[in-house]
Amino acid sequence: MNAMTETATTRPVTRQTFDDVLVPTYAPAAMVPVRASGLDLWDQSGKHYLDFTSGIAVSSLGHCNPKLVSALTEQLNKVWHLGNGYTNEPVLRLALALTEATFADRAFFCNSGAEANEGALKLARKYAHEKFGPHKSRIISCLSSFHGRTLFTVSVGGQPKYTEGFEPLPPAIDHIRYNDIESARAAITDDVAAVIVEPIQGEGGVIPGDTAFLKALRELCDQTGALLVFDEVQSGVGRTGALYAYMQHGVTPDILTSAKALGNGYPIGAMLTTNEIAQHFGVGSHGTTYGGNPLAATVALNVIETINQPEFLARVKEASARIMANLDKLGADYPTVFGKARGAGLLIGLPLADAYKGRAKDFTKAAEALGLMLLIAGTDVIRMAPALIVSDEQIAEADRLLRQAVETIVNAA
Ligand code: PLP
Repeated sequence: MNAMTETATTRPVTRQTFDDVLVPTYAPAAMVPVRASGLDLWDQSGKHYLDFTSGIAVSSLGHCNPKLVSALTEQLNKVWHLGNGYTNEPVLRLALALTEATFADRAFFCNSGAEANEGALKLARKYAHEKFGPHKSRIISCLSSFHGRTLFTVSVGGQPKYTEGFEPLPPAIDHIRYNDIESARAAITDDVAAVIVEPIQGEGGVIPGDTAFLKALRELCDQTGALLVFDEVQSGVGRTGALYAYMQHGVTPDILTSAKALGNGYPIGAMLTTNEIAQHFGVGSHGTTYGGNPLAATVALNVIETINQPEFLARVKEASARIMANLDKLGADYPTVFGKARGAGLLIGLPLADAYKGRAKDFTKAAEALGLMLLIAGTDVIRMAPALIVSDEQIAEADRLLRQAVETIVNAA
């Protein structure tokens, strides 16, 4: 085909094209994935990779999961989009499934984790203002937390690097130390509308929340009338071995946000809450064009039905134990390279020891060259978040490739 007849659809594209025409907010890998199935992925040159990232804890049922492909294809031929002037059957079924499976009585749907948190924080403010008055508006969040990239959610997030240059920031937001009950006690006073927390901090370095800390937040919220918001965007939908992580801690939030794995890669976010709180989001108070779109809802319904099974969740824990055992052994073999692996279920962090701090990306790059895709969480932690359907053979293969990558780096030193 000559240049005259080429279109954007047929023209060759490479990683360089990203640098030429995309806003440079990301620095993607050198290879461009073109096809994937389960945890297998192939790039433009046909090279194979074992994917232990699942698109940052998203494709939990694997790439192009056949059940999801078939459900989505069926819905694609029925109706794609209606707008909020109409409801649709898939979203009604999804709301029933989520409310039956959790503490919540009601669901609000949107398109991403940031948007779910934005909705949660707005709802908490509205509830507090209507029930107690406008003085009750302060939001408490944790240092090192991550809640999304809208201006409100970066301000609530506990990582200054994401707010720098975007000032002025919304006021009345304060941060406490994660897992520090005294810090929480000092901050959560009568003017607080909401306390937002990740049950396990993902982006902040894969730091599991202490049950005692989460319980203390619950008690402080009960004492002050603040709403407790659990951000389960990364920890939710089976990732930790429970449908939602709050279930493992025995601490029930007032509002829960979910996204990422809920759509297995089809964008959807959800905010779940109780009848009492939901009534403060009346007609016209909040919304989004695509929220509860029939395509996204169809995928999410199938995801929830597949993952919320005792055997499925038990297997997540079993797979987690296998990976943890491998990482403990790796840590024992390379004590100057790694600290103790940590996490919950299949959200796992492997911290680097002092001598290698700041080099997490070097390890993931070395693994990628060998055909293993891994994540980082900050500059000091290698993160694994494979699809929840990962097999024992894939776990063994990831261990083999990671060891090879570690050797490359250690030998180069
Ligand atoms: N909350 C948590 C805990 C997350 O890990 C993320 C994304 O990494 C978000 C919110 C933001 O989600 P999204 O990127 O879908 O807006």
